[in-house]
Amino acid sequence: MGSLGPLKPDHDVLVIGGGLSGCYACHRMKQLNLSVKVLEAGTSVGGTWYWNRYPGARFDSESYTYAFYFSPELLDEWKWTEHYAPQAETERYIQFLCDRLKLWDHLQFNTYIDSAQWLDQDRVWKLTEKSGKTYTSRFLITGIGVLSNPTLPNVPGVANFKGEAYHTSRWPKTPVDFTDKRVGVIGTGATAIQAIPVIAETAAQVTVFQRTANWAIPLRNTKISEDEMEKIRSGYPEMLIRINETRMGFMHSACGDSIWDYTPEEREVFWEKLWALPGFPFWLSNYKEIMVDEKANDLVTAFAAKKTKERVHDPWTADKLIPKNHGFGTRRVPMDTYYFEAYNRPTVRLVDLLETPFERVTEDGIITTAEEFKFDILVYATGFDAVTGAFDAIDFRGTNNHSLRDEWKDGPRTYLGLTVEHFPNMWMSMGPHQAYGNIPRSIEYAVGWIAECIDYCRDHNISYFEATAAGVQDWTDHVHDLGKDLLSNKVDSWMTGVNKNVAGKQKRIVARYMGSAPEFREKCKEVADAEYSTFTKM
Ligand code: NAP
Repeated sequence: MGSLGPLKPDHDVLVIGGGLSGCYACHRMKQLNLSVKVLEAGTSVGGTWYWNRYPGARFDSESYTYAFYFSPELLDEWKWTEHYAPQAETERYIQFLCDRLKLWDHLQFNTYIDSAQWLDQDRVWKLTEKSGKTYTSRFLITGIGVLSNPTLPNVPGVANFKGEAYHTSRWPKTPVDFTDKRVGVIGTGATAIQAIPVIAETAAQVTVFQRTANWAIPLRNTKISEDEMEKIRSGYPEMLIRINETRMGFMHSACGDSIWDYTPEEREVFWEKLWALPGFPFWLSNYKEIMVDEKANDLVTAFAAKKTKERVHDPWTADKLIPKNHGFGTRRVPMDTYYFEAYNRPTVRLVDLLETPFERVTEDGIITTAEEFKFDILVYATGFDAVTGAFDAIDFRGTNNHSLRDEWKDGPRTYLGLTVEHFPNMWMSMGPHQAYGNIPRSIEYAVGWIAECIDYCRDHNISYFEATAAGVQDWTDHVHDLGKDLLSNKVDSWMTGVNKNVAGKQKRIVARYMGSAPEFREKCKEVADAEYSTFTKM
């Protein structure tokens, strides 16, 4: 390795986060015979699938496309029981990976990292836990997730409520009993849309507080029979080819046709066909213009609104549940299992916060400008300080004490979404400006790229590997260019980094790489093939 200071780090590689990124990074580092430790805040592995154990939590993309594909043996051994796996099954799948790959000895739980400091002289990363305990390594990989830093609503009195209160992403491990309880649910994003119908099955009353209505498509989940699982297993090689070709890494891709080549009647037939399919097709396999052309989007939006009206009996509620401030698909579309139908129960009521905003949370409920509500249980399905939020939660300090929070205060700036200038020897799996889509697919690629890069550093005696200012500028410009025409970048959502509960997160940013997954991989491969010539290496 190049010239180094006196401090010998405890580990070759530290990984922050024990979700899918952290577990796969651990496996790849072990394969390289590097000493690796994964530091995880929770009491076990799983990340998203550890924390989000709220009622109804499940994949909304096909289980068998959402798994890791790096090991045909592991793919073959695992059995999915539902087309869209529930949280508990996914958590078990991640534990199964840790068993088979013998990762447990490298995983450390109950470890919340507060700060990560690059020591210039020693070329070492020093991580400090909340308790003050420190860990050092030559290389650092972050696997801290896109949606991992939950936020409560900025409503006065949230701390005053004396009943049970849960954020969906910090759900207890023992089931919450809603039987005969009065439940208030705040939020109507993908999480609430999964949770509300399940809570409504047993609760005495469910009051849903909605600020922004969301579109949703029926998920149409079903069980996987033994025969079906056998067919899925034998189809994995073709499936891998397919998911490596598509834009988002899912089985589904845009149909490629122009909406303007079809009559209104023909469109209606096509949309009915897509609507009847399980999961994503109505969003992802639609006409090519729906995400970029407002007129095209208006048409598909009108179709989706008609579908919502058909599902909700009360016209006032149906109308409120139809988004007015964003077109179909311009925010991440939730997939639902009888969400809209839940409002047909006499026990479920919608409150429109745009008409009657919150005043405060009280000891026993919520007061809006119009009414006082009493609750036994409050469910905060209020989302996350997304994408950059998990990075902001840790005090990352790079060369010359550069602060990552400061570096990204006007939006993230990265090279390939994997690295940042002033933060040498640090790689991000699922950092901003990466291709997200099918997250395990993206993780498998990002971590694989990082592993090869670390292997290269070791083989070439490189102890300092850093993105350049020019590389960061080029990639950031490229990401901004790709997102320019997208309707989704003109709407407030976690995907544009807006969280009204967090100071400094009111302005939209370009958070995601919006080219296709194959294009993203091609760009990253070019850099690796050129022996990382666009990085500073010492
Ligand atoms: P979200 O989409 O950000 O939704 C948060 C909800 O809380 C929104 O309705 C928001 O309203 C509301 N809210 C926040 N603060 C509020 C306040 N102060 N007053 C009133 N309402 C407030 O978060 P999420 O539902 O947890 O979903 C986030 C993402 O996680 C999804 O888009 C998806 O990518 C992922 N997810 C995936 C699955 C899956 O099946 N794979 C399941 C769940 C979630 P506004 O919109 O007005 O801010």
